[in-house]
Amino acid sequence: MRTPAELRAEAERLRAMAKNRREAAEFADGHAYRDDLRRAKEHEQEALALERKATELEAAQANGYTVGEAHPAVVEPGLAACPFCGEASLDVIRPDGFPEGFPAMQVICRNPGCLCSGPIRPDRGEAISYWNARAELHEV
Ligand SMILES: [Zn+2]
Repeated sequence: MRTPAELRAEAERLRAMAKNRREAAEFADGHAYRDDLRRAKEHEQEALALERKATELEAAQANGYTVGEAHPAVVEPGLAACPFCGEASLDVIRPDGFPEGFPAMQVICRNPGCLCSGPIRPDRGEAISYWNARAELHEV
């Protein structure tokens, strides 16, 4: 995974190449002229894509994410990793579909490819201990 600075350096290099192509096009004609312009545009588009990626990564880092991660790391200390996929990024949520005032909490895995959830329990502490108990079962 490249850093935003590396992506921007690569984009700059591509822009310099595009500039050379555009200058060359001025002295070319016909097929060579069109080819130079086409290559210049390709370099510019690639540079733009790299700059966008750099901006995305910078925004993610500003929000406390590490480059390369799709989501923040562990939200709840004391939670065992997901017993199914090993994901350490977990959350304790109030599941949908319960009437207001009905006590319900559960642990969910934040790996987008897994998204499994723990047992629904009346409070946060119990939801966590049930989740951890299952994680231990799966470790055996
Ligand atoms: Zn999981």
